[in-house]
Amino acid sequence: MPGLVVKPRARIFHGHDWVYASEIKKSFGNPSPGDVISLKDFKDRPLGSAIYNPASQIVARRFSRRKQVLDRDFFGRRIERALKYRQGLSRIDQELCRIAWSESDGLPGVVIDRYGEHVVLQTLTLGMNQRIDMISEAISETFSPKGIILRNDSPMRAAEGLSPETRLIAGEAPSQQHLDINGISFTTDLMGGQKTGLYLDQLSNYRLVAEYASGQRVLDCFTNQGGFALHCAAAGAGQVIGVDSSSPAISSAKQNAQRSGLDAIQWIEANVFDDLKKRESGAEEFDLIILDPPSFTRNKRSLKDALRGYKEIHLRALKMLNPGGILVTFTCSHHVSRKAFLEMVRDAAVDAKRTLRQSQTFAQRADHPINPSIPETEYLHGFAFEILPAW
Ligand code: SAH
Repeated sequence: MPGLVVKPRARIFHGHDWVYASEIKKSFGNPSPGDVISLKDFKDRPLGSAIYNPASQIVARRFSRRKQVLDRDFFGRRIERALKYRQGLSRIDQELCRIAWSESDGLPGVVIDRYGEHVVLQTLTLGMNQRIDMISEAISETFSPKGIILRNDSPMRAAEGLSPETRLIAGEAPSQQHLDINGISFTTDLMGGQKTGLYLDQLSNYRLVAEYASGQRVLDCFTNQGGFALHCAAAGAGQVIGVDSSSPAISSAKQNAQRSGLDAIQWIEANVFDDLKKRESGAEEFDLIILDPPSFTRNKRSLKDALRGYKEIHLRALKMLNPGGILVTFTCSHHVSRKAFLEMVRDAAVDAKRTLRQSQTFAQRADHPINPSIPETEYLHGFAFEILPAW
């Protein structure tokens, strides 16, 4: 099998599964893009099998510490194993669940989400993209779904030289699906919605955040289909406003609210940066503000700008929160470390002249497990801060 010799001190010797271009000592056997290759250390000792893409910064991604081919059986076994892990997560609805999460499930670049009788597949690496048919067959065998939708519209594919595409790869195209989440009705559009349909990683956080909402005036920024806003309203919030710049997201939020009998929520289609500015100059006050923005940066280079953006919305939110109020805030970019994010919150609190007390942390749901040796598998950090009255 062709392969690569990896330089000493590369991250693979610290438990990571990726080999960057700068970590390659030499290649042998002339591998082609998308091939399975073998990795070796400088003493010719085997390090395992990987998928190869010389066009990506991450030239090799290991998927096995052994000699392993990528065939239908391999995908069947890995999906079975991933499914077994989820079946052990008793509090997670198995019908609304991420079944495979890339490196964390030994399937680099493969994301499989289950939405009731339909399955959504993403292939974010060249090696896996070339094997869509095999993966699709393995999914069909394991789940016998009504349909499999390929949602390859993630911008991450560009780094692998792959263009976007969304299509049905097996079975029937789903009509609009109505899903029940904690007694609230959500409508998904698996062919056209954001992400693969819903933000599955946040599903268990909706209820946790809604515990702060009873009787309160709530502002849910970046509401998407209204996940937090709807749960807050159902938990008895006094008033709820949900803001998002996407018109389809706001219309689904409205539809979800109507179907769930939560009609009092005010939905605003606007840029959160402008909306917060307007509310702040109108001296509005809130008891609970939720900030769940998209990833402001996809690379380390724009980290500074991202942090500036985060700080602006945090500063405005903190100024509008009543003493005793709660700020719930998330970052979903793995380039923004927990430390950098908390420093930004602290700086915003200093500028807003507010004293904060962290009361809770939130993470991506357990169907998006984290491999501690691969920090990139951890991307969602969330915090609840209480605004202390002056003392
Ligand atoms: N809280 C949501 C997920 C938010 S995802 C949930 O749990 O379901 C981020 C959302 O921010 C997306 O819906 C996107 O449309 C929206 N968005 C992105 N930039 C925005 C901006 N500048 N102003 C308002 N909304 C924005």
